[in-house]
Amino acid sequence: MKKIIIANLKMNFTQEDTKNYLDELITLSESITNKLVVCFPYTSLALAKDMLLNTKIIIGAQNVHQNESGAFTGEISAKMLKDLSCKIVLVGHSERRMYFEESYKLINEKIKTLLKYGMRAVLCIGETLKERETSKTKQVLKQQLDQALNGLYENELKNVLIAYEPVWAIGTGKTPTGKQIEECAKYIRNVISQNFSEKAAKNMNILYGGSLKPDNAKTLLSLSEINGALVGGASLNPDSFIKIAKVK
Ligand code: PEP
Repeated sequence: MKKIIIANLKMNFTQEDTKNYLDELITLSESITNKLVVCFPYTSLALAKDMLLNTKIIIGAQNVHQNESGAFTGEISAKMLKDLSCKIVLVGHSERRMYFEESYKLINEKIKTLLKYGMRAVLCIGETLKERETSKTKQVLKQQLDQALNGLYENELKNVLIAYEPVWAIGTGKTPTGKQIEECAKYIRNVISQNFSEKAAKNMNILYGGSLKPDNAKTLLSLSEINGALVGGASLNPDSFIKIAKVK
């Protein structure tokens, strides 16, 4: 089965950096069979649109505003992203929840807007260290899923991917054990099965994210419940991103 490997470039790269990055990534990605997505900063999207035409690298963004248009100074709409050939957007990344106080109610609105415009949403969920240490992981995951997917129709779930990203693993060099990841991914499928159906749970693409690097990619990506990866730090270097993307 093909895996979905998503790069989250975060707030990095000028136009020139983006050009150099893509020049290298396009060449390196020619033999990759997994699906490759890069979530660019907004300012790199127009250049990515030109450079990635006729390549297999899919264009993604890191955020979107929930409203379709209007007086929201500084924000970017789903329609604007679609216009730049963006196919997929991260929602609810823990950095957005931490630094911009995004709630799952807001994330739910963002998902609905993306679906309306025919784009896919990567819903990021995951517990903090304190929540894990106080045995609240499952409770937190359920709450996040209940709120984020509230009111969605089952047939819309094909355009939603879930990234399980424990907050304590993001950018820290720490990762959960394979057993812990499998347990959470299974639990996520359980919640989807209860809220939608067994079929929806089985078909859901669940990605793992958090300190994924070339040296742990094989172990983490071969977990049976995991369909791909969301990669932050290690995606900034085309070579290390491709090493992760090569994992079968
Ligand atoms: C992320 O920010 O989604 C992420 C997974 O980051 P990192 O790979 O750097 O932990």
